[in-house]
Formats: sequence, structure tokens, C-alpha cells
Amino acid sequence: MTRLSETIRELTEDHAVNIGTDHIRLATEAALLDQLEDAKAGTSTGGGAVNRQTAPLGIDPLMIEQDIIRTIHTTSPIADRYGLACMPLKPRVATWGNLIPEALALAHLQDWVGRIRALFLHYQDLDAPCPRCGCRYVLIDEGDQVIRQAALVVCKETLTASCRNWECGAVWSGADELHNLAATT
Ligand SMILES: [Zn+2]
Repeated sequence: MTRLSETIRELTEDHAVNIGTDHIRLATEAALLDQLEDAKAGTSTGGGAVNRQTAPLGIDPLMIEQDIIRTIHTTSPIADRYGLACMPLKPRVATWGNLIPEALALAHLQDWVGRIRALFLHYQDLDAPCPRCGCRYVLIDEGDQVIRQAALVVCKETLTASCRNWECGAVWSGADELHNLAATT
């Protein structure tokens, strides 16, 4: 499998990955574009068996998706643009990746892989009740199953924390507010 087809596969299909640094173990990771889709709604817990970390809510996943759509549109041959735009995102990415020069495709695809993976690295659940609404967990309907998630989630990159209970929606931002939150939970 070439680097290009491997990267397309990471984005569009469930795939086996190596995890751990001192030992190698195979596990399945969900297609990154599926993870991105879930992250937009804030309902994902991340890549299946490998990465059960918490997906972020909101803006970042949406910006990544918009960037993918815009990049595909602006870099694909004009004759193919309409057909690509009609496709669902996964086949669109796969088709586009094989249409344009390989080095250019690979650069964009690897950037998207990195950014989608980073979404899940920067977020961490807090196992503590929300000081505003008192919720420790929220239940999230994922189609055929209901998943329990921590109510409080911290984004280590932006130093913000938020409550997933939509009736509460509390947000803490900045180191001072996070310290206060830590002191009250
Ligand atoms: Zn709350």
C-alpha cells in the first residue's frame, strides 16, 4: 500500500493502527472523517478501540471540515468539481486524492489526519461534578446505543473547560478560572 492510499484509508475507512511506543499492538481506529463528523456534534468518544478520549464540541471540527471542502474545491480540476461536490465527504476525499498530483494530495491529507487526531489529544474529561449544574455525567444518544460521558471537559490547548450538559453550558477560560474550577471540583 502506498503512503497516499494508506493516508486516504486512515481518513475514509476503519483501519488497523499500531499503538504504544515500547510494544506494538494492533487495534482498530475508526475512519478519521467519521470521527470528525461525530466531533462536530460533540458526541464522539474518539477512535473506537484505540482512543476513547473525548471529542470536542463545536468550532474546531467544523473549521477542519470547511477547510477540507474548500481545499478539494480549489485544487481539483475544473471539469471534476461538480461531480466531487455532489459526493459525500469520504468518497469525495478518496476520489480527489487520486485526481491531483500525489505530492500535493499527500501534503493536504496528512495535514487533515494530524488536525483531526489533534482534536482528540487536546481534550480531557474531568471526573467531577459541574459546580454550576451538579452533573457528573451526561448521556449521549449515539444511534443504537447510549453513551455516558463526563459532564466536564477541558481543552488543554485553549485552556478552557466546559460543561456538556446543554441546559447548563458553563464555560471556564484561562488559567485562573481553571484553577478555580479545579479547587471547586
Ligand atoms: Zn454544568
